[in-house]
Amino acid sequence: MQTSSTDRRASLESRRVLAERAVEAASRATRSVHELPGEVSAVLKDDRSPVTVADFAAQAVVAMTLASAEGTAPRLVGEEHPAALEGDSGGPLLHAVTAAVRTVFPDATSDEVLEAVGHGTAEPDAAGFWTLDPVDGTKGFLRRQQYAVALAWVEEGRPLVGALGCPHLSIDPSADVEVADPTGCLASATLGGGATMRAIGAASKDRRTLRAAAWNESDGIVCCESVESGHSKQDRTAAVLAACGASAAPVRLDSQCKYAVVARGQAHAYLRLPTRAGYVERIWDHAAGSLIATESGAIVSDIDGAPLDFAHGRGLERNRGIVAASAGLHARLIEAIART
Ligand code: AMP
Ligand code: MG
Repeated sequence: MQTSSTDRRASLESRRVLAERAVEAASRATRSVHELPGEVSAVLKDDRSPVTVADFAAQAVVAMTLASAEGTAPRLVGEEHPAALEGDSGGPLLHAVTAAVRTVFPDATSDEVLEAVGHGTAEPDAAGFWTLDPVDGTKGFLRRQQYAVALAWVEEGRPLVGALGCPHLSIDPSADVEVADPTGCLASATLGGGATMRAIGAASKDRRTLRAAAWNESDGIVCCESVESGHSKQDRTAAVLAACGASAAPVRLDSQCKYAVVARGQAHAYLRLPTRAGYVERIWDHAAGSLIATESGAIVSDIDGAPLDFAHGRGLERNRGIVAASAGLHARLIEAIART
């Protein structure tokens, strides 16, 4: 019995190391896109959301890293689909994506890149699967503000391993999140194994344990939320915070960097209140970040206080909105949301 739990811990730890490697490489590829003049433009997907060269390049780099480590095509549920890169019309975009992938894998061919992006179209599988948001917060990426590369291993309806590359988030928790940092940081976690963070490019021995902030009645509330008002109901967040006695306005930043900011005690809470009935949160927008926040001691739930349930395909079908917060504050926020 003891051996099997030791084996399980070792297998999660080796997946964590692999996830960090994949996310770090993909973060480098996304950064190269910012350095190429003229490449930071978006095409619109069918749902009108933007996608860039960096989104496809990061998905390809993660898929290639996982495939080479696992010796087979990975079970990867990614956000992007290769259709926009296919055929004559996709040629120029595929060419730009291949150039970005080559900053990490210099010998990659266009065919290999196309195949790797396609590996990200797997469906969730009860035996476990990777899920990836190659560029979470694409609008932040386009504004050269915060964005994240988010990869998690999901099994039994919950994330067991998560890695979050935050290429513009300073390793220094006292730095202003609204300023893009040139080094960036990388957080990771395993279920039951804690969460850590290091600067991108730093050695594994430099990882620091993440601890969410303690919160007491007499403390103020530092809360973060989306920059995009279409992703989170900002006026309701303000009302909820006021009901809890908070005086400071929330800090706004894009992507799952919000979970990292809570995990390292820089904010007490991340609120994501639904903007419309019927929106279902995507699993890749929360799998890595929610595990990292939970393993740092924060509590993560939906707006009714229910745990996030990753057992229903590509969406968090049974949940609405997100509340990630320091232990003392979480119940207070759930109560205030119910009343507001
Ligand atoms: P954020 O950077 O936190 O604003 O979140 C970016 C993510 O918001 C994207 O990856 C989208 O999947 C997701 N998103 C798109 N539309 C909505 C919506 N109406 N409500 C909540 N999230 C959304
Ligand atoms: Mg996203």
